[in-house]
Amino acid sequence: MDAAANTAVEIVALTKQYSVDIPPAVDQIDLRIASGSYCCLLGPSGCGKSTTLRMIAGHETVTHGDILLENRNITRLAAAARGTAMMFQSFALFPHLSALDNVAFSLKMKGVAKAERHRRAAELLERVAMGHLAQRKPGELSGGQQQRVALARALITEPRVLLLDEPLSALDPFLRVQMRAELRRWQKELGLTFIHVTHSQEEAMALADTMVVMNHGLIEQVGSPHEVYNFPGSEFVARFMGGHNVLQTAAGPIAVRNDHMKIAPAEQAGASGLAATITDVEYQGTYVLLGLQLAEAPPGTKSVAVLLHESDFLARPFVLDQQVLLSWDEAHARVLRPGAQRPAPRKAQPPKTRRDELAAMAG
Ligand code: ADP
Ligand code: MG
Repeated sequence: MDAAANTAVEIVALTKQYSVDIPPAVDQIDLRIASGSYCCLLGPSGCGKSTTLRMIAGHETVTHGDILLENRNITRLAAAARGTAMMFQSFALFPHLSALDNVAFSLKMKGVAKAERHRRAAELLERVAMGHLAQRKPGELSGGQQQRVALARALITEPRVLLLDEPLSALDPFLRVQMRAELRRWQKELGLTFIHVTHSQEEAMALADTMVVMNHGLIEQVGSPHEVYNFPGSEFVARFMGGHNVLQTAAGPIAVRNDHMKIAPAEQAGASGLAATITDVEYQGTYVLLGLQLAEAPPGTKSVAVLLHESDFLARPFVLDQQVLLSWDEAHARVLRPGAQRPAPRKAQPPKTRRDELAAMAG
């Protein structure tokens, strides 16, 4: 039972079907999220991230399956009774209320007396280093300060799990990078479990202990940013994470990181590999990115990219329209699966052990 003891949220065969004539938005997904971890749900628009988060929050009904919080089945509990709290896009603070009243708001709704709710709100604002600005309105606070107020407001219900749906996506790029560092720091300091939805692989890699890559309502891969980036399991993950070339070989599709590609002038003695032409040379500072077209591109192979360290490029520059040969070490090639498969129709599927256990728990 060790795994269960360290699990904050467990999702079992979770399914959301908005309408019978379209595929499920979330299709029988299974997932365990470790206590005190930063988990990012990552995937393209429409893949089912927000639906999954809203089902955990209790803002969306579940079609099939179960959600457990610290081994308690919360699938059919009201949102306020779950032990979760939600932080929304661009923090969604009430502009006419002070920071203190924003934080105290949900206690007011619960009928907690003014002195008590102000005491607890002030305590939380101290905790996120905002005590001295408690009387300011959101418009008088910086982006970072507003984020801390939003965090305090979510924490006042003493949640076990904080849910965040694209909290940074409305911010300008500079502020977004600052704010994500703050989120990460607060998550570690508070020791809470965060589940953060984003469509940005860069944001997920910067924040997550565990990344859950979704596509078409299915989970493609779960792992640390290092694992997912270095060992993409499927063609979809390799393409979505970026930084990889997906190459068709006799052994099937493989992924090779752009910076693991070897490139040599076609006329260089002893050079071998795939013939290609340089179509783009982009200076990026630390790196130079080369775009290439393969001479014999199998169907489905798009252009290939090679990332060279600036010093390597300067030592031996490549130029537009140059003929080159591309190769890679076998050790750097990752064999790919085609992608996550839709589960078989439920009738045909043998029951899962965990699902049976839960059914038994429910009596
Ligand atoms: P994401 O957050 O990954 O962008 P969503 O979970 O919002 O994706 O949506 C997943 C799929 O479910 C999409 O095809 C979307 O159009 C559909 N969907 C989302 N919300 C609803 C709804 N309330 N009614 C019907 N379809 C919905
Ligand atoms: Mg969404």
